[in-house]
Amino acid sequence: MKLRLVLGDQLNENHPWFNSIEKGVLYVQMEMRQETDYAPHHIQKLIAFFGAMRHFNQVLEAHGHQTYYLKLDAPENSQDLVSNLRKIIQQYEVNSFEYQSPDEYRLSHQLKEFCSSLSIPTTEVDSDHFMASQEELQEYFTGKKQYVLEFFYRKMRKKFNLLMHGEQPEGGQWNFDKNNRKKWKGSPEIPEVFYPEKKTLTDLYRLFKDQKVVSIGSFDPENFIYPLSRVAALKQLDYFCEKLLIHFGDYQDAMHTEELNLFHSRLSFGLNTKMISPLEVVEKVIAYYRKNTAIIALSQVEGFVRQIVGWREYMRGIYWTQMPHYKKKNTLKNFNKLPDFYWTGKTKMNCLKQSVCNSLDHAYAHHIQRLMILGNFALLAQVHPDEVDAWFLGVYADAVEWVQLPNTRGMSQWADGGIVATKPYVSAAAYINKMGNYCEGCTYDKKKRLGADACPFNSLYWNFLDDKKEHFAKNNRMAMMLRLLEKIPGEELSAIKTRAGKILSQPDAF
Ligand SMILES: Cc1cc2nc3c(=O)[nH]c(=O)nc-3n(C[C@H](O)[C@H](O)[C@H](O)COP(=O)(O)OP(=O)(O)OC[C@H]3O[C@@H](n4cnc5c(N)ncnc54)[C@H](O)[C@@H]3O)c2cc1C
Ligand code: SF4
Repeated sequence: MKLRLVLGDQLNENHPWFNSIEKGVLYVQMEMRQETDYAPHHIQKLIAFFGAMRHFNQVLEAHGHQTYYLKLDAPENSQDLVSNLRKIIQQYEVNSFEYQSPDEYRLSHQLKEFCSSLSIPTTEVDSDHFMASQEELQEYFTGKKQYVLEFFYRKMRKKFNLLMHGEQPEGGQWNFDKNNRKKWKGSPEIPEVFYPEKKTLTDLYRLFKDQKVVSIGSFDPENFIYPLSRVAALKQLDYFCEKLLIHFGDYQDAMHTEELNLFHSRLSFGLNTKMISPLEVVEKVIAYYRKNTAIIALSQVEGFVRQIVGWREYMRGIYWTQMPHYKKKNTLKNFNKLPDFYWTGKTKMNCLKQSVCNSLDHAYAHHIQRLMILGNFALLAQVHPDEVDAWFLGVYADAVEWVQLPNTRGMSQWADGGIVATKPYVSAAAYINKMGNYCEGCTYDKKKRLGADACPFNSLYWNFLDDKKEHFAKNNRMAMMLRLLEKIPGEELSAIKTRAGKILSQPDAF
């Protein structure tokens, strides 16, 4: 018997393994405390992963594959990958072991060690999902001080001939980023939230409660949006093309109190579990655009393609070429605790309250909420990157370490000293107000730096620049901000720092 292991984020029906029914092959999937407990996860994330794994098992069975599915509460489950595998190998007299390359360093390491302890042949195969191979990542991401997304992105566009005219980008430019910065003020109308399938998931909810799995956030079966099957994920993709793509690029950076999704696709869970592939997603989006060029502008499509072909693949390159030391980086030497309100939503700062509550209620926040509200505040508050990582890894349904870590520690917290981002993504209230309507309903005054009602972001921003100025002294992109800092009169700066100190000493009171 040959054992083939399918991990929870390897639900790729189109993997070559499944092209034919092979006799003597056993496909193994396992629900384990090892995976539910390595971080406290959002309850919807747990339900989505286990629900999708169970569905995948039904698909394999329906196609005639022989499977072994270990449920979380099965008495024979030892809740640990290696012990479970050893038992199955013995029980089924397994004489060869195969697995797809894990995307997480933790699992890759664990499986490599396990294989070296076995006396039967073992084989690692590609997961057949990503657009850049490990070899290409190694070639592009080693031996440089900084890795510019733009060049990587162009390489990928050329490689797959996406939005290209020969060697040149369609529309004469590679990047329409400058068109992606509109504030949403009530129009254009945002289509209804799309639920790709209706499923009763209370059995899974009960399972986690009965097994006392520690989780965060809330679960309402009526509002559960995550696709648990490839069919549902493809429906979500169709919906995106038909209803959302038309305005995706324009409002990519917008934020609004009443609108959780705006024109975002919500495809990250389907992608990260590999139910759908990045290439099929962008090809479908481009094909839809080609049929609808009269109403959809190239800038909307390019903005979307850049996220998947550019950012998503690029983050994976950073992860695999920088791990394991990347996980320990703390260039800015930040050591504060994450405020409790990240876990409760109890804060008077409206932008944070809205973004935290979105995250706890839906296991989702869109990119700018993650980067410019939640990440921004954590960085201004000089929180230890370990604490920030733990929160981001647990709270989102799409959070898997290979993509969460470079986004959080790199892009958002600048803990990698600029490997991902040329300058830290920090801002005071002016940016938040420019891109959203949070400030309109806030206790604090977005324009003030000082006084009891002054927006905390404003004093924290200048305090952060002042505290960390030596780190940025040679950074050209920070030169203007440092010059502005220097222009603040000494007395005012000292008052700003006193206010910031007060906020940092008790952030949950603000
Ligand atoms: C601090 C922080 C943490 C993040 N953690 C995660 C995470 O754990 N998992 C995750 O998938 N994304 C993460 N992101 C990236 C991004 O915020 C999410 O991919 C996106 O919000 C998912 O929602 P969507 O599917 O509606 O995306 P859309 O806005 O519709 O974008 C389309 C797709 O592009 C991809 N994408 C967009 N931006 C990025 C990016 N920066 N990195 C990688 N892929 C991207 C995603 O696959 C996404 O589904 C994080 C970003 C930040 C700033
Ligand atoms: S005033 Fe400050 S705290 Fe309030 S919503 Fe605006 S940026 Fe956030």
